[in-house]
Amino acid sequence: MNVRRAVIALALLLAGSAGAQSLSLTFDDGLNPDKEPQARAWNSQLLEHLRRADIKAMVFPALARTGDGAGRALIADWAAAGHAVGNHTSRHRSLGSQKVALEAFIEDVQEADAAFNALPTWQRRLRFPFLKEGDTVDKRDGMRAWMYDHGYESAPVSIDTSDWYYNDVFLTLSKAGGQDAKLEVLRAHYIRHLLDRAAYYDKLALQVTGKRPMHVMLLHVNAINATWLPQVVEAFKGQGWAIISPRKAFTDPLYATPPDTLPAGESIVWALAKATGVTGLRYPAEDGDYEAPALRALGLPAD
Ligand SMILES: [Zn+2]
Repeated sequence: MNVRRAVIALALLLAGSAGAQSLSLTFDDGLNPDKEPQARAWNSQLLEHLRRADIKAMVFPALARTGDGAGRALIADWAAAGHAVGNHTSRHRSLGSQKVALEAFIEDVQEADAAFNALPTWQRRLRFPFLKEGDTVDKRDGMRAWMYDHGYESAPVSIDTSDWYYNDVFLTLSKAGGQDAKLEVLRAHYIRHLLDRAAYYDKLALQVTGKRPMHVMLLHVNAINATWLPQVVEAFKGQGWAIISPRKAFTDPLYATPPDTLPAGESIVWALAKATGVTGLRYPAEDGDYEAPALRALGLPAD
């Protein structure tokens, strides 16, 4: 290769990387083997998929979801596999609820911290339950001040999804048995949903900030991801997405920008769009209600 060709090749490579889409995977809640017999299997399947795809993710366990025994131990498996562990509170209550005072919410954060902070990959990053960051200025800013004082950073998502809702439909079909054809339909639709939400928030981020951030996508430790994560990853890569670690993604300045919205929360891209006067945003940003009609039209059990 002559010098001129090498320069052109390098320029093309740089142009490609500058416009590349990248996202990281985060998994909320965790599973409780004392309540769900398949919890251990799903947890280990998910970890095996991540290992084979050479992906480092981050898990945000809530004690209300893991329980205090076997489910906590499943989170230790994530840490042992090198995935970061963050805080999703103990009781999984919404700071956006009038019934949850700031002091009570802080106790929830402290309880989860005490339960998981001995894990080797523990990070002081808070993923707010339901992505709700306060229904009043006092609660929102009070929590931000507490986090600052205690060396905590927020763990917003840029790409919000309704994987939990698709998981409900997946479990209904799986438990019914003999639903392979419908499961295939659901799989295609689930992957399309994730790709669609990623494209939507990527475009919105470009519109609001003028650039494509390193994304953080919201998923959950659940059966649907334990089953179909390889196909999900393959689909994203097929559309030009690179999968990066949350540790890297969170270095994007996007995540250090606290949006001035009330009620506070949702995807940080959504919140920044709201704060800068973008119209036509739906609230909540994501919900099963938005997904149900299309799934029902396909003959799937979407309540
Ligand atoms: Zn959660």
